[in-house]
Amino acid sequence: MSISRDSVVQFHYDLKDEKGELIESSKEGEPSAYLHGHGNVIPGLEKAMQGKEAGESFVATIEPADAYGPIEENAIQRLPIKHLQGSKQKKWKAGMIAWVKTEQGDRQVTVVKVGKFSADVDSNHPFAGRTLTFEVDVLEVRDATFEEKNHGHAHGVGGHHH
Ligand code: ZN
Repeated sequence: MSISRDSVVQFHYDLKDEKGELIESSKEGEPSAYLHGHGNVIPGLEKAMQGKEAGESFVATIEPADAYGPIEENAIQRLPIKHLQGSKQKKWKAGMIAWVKTEQGDRQVTVVKVGKFSADVDSNHPFAGRTLTFEVDVLEVRDATFEEKNHGHAHGVGGHHH
């Protein structure tokens, strides 16, 4: 079967930047899985997946507008350091990724500058403004279960675990 709305897709990917350098890969762990047609992956990847079948491999180059959006200029905020979460180390440094709680839920930020009690963080996604190339191996395509459709996400290997 080919990928269409409410397919559960299991896949491996390599993600490369504009220079062809590997910035992320699923291949060291279990494959990723998502429910197609529900905005669970970036729009450009979802578009490229449409109609593909298990066993197919493809390369998709995705512009920022269909990936993580453009870089927002006014995305730098000053926060108390104690609001930053997610580092196993005690000291925050520029360039580190932190999580902060917002009214919209947990949000990933990049630490820009660290002071004594406060830190400047950039709330742009680390891949904002970047053209991304995905090299995808489609491993498995199946119909979503009733429960998965209800939840709006995939279960099982590479999906959500409750
Ligand atoms: Zn669920």
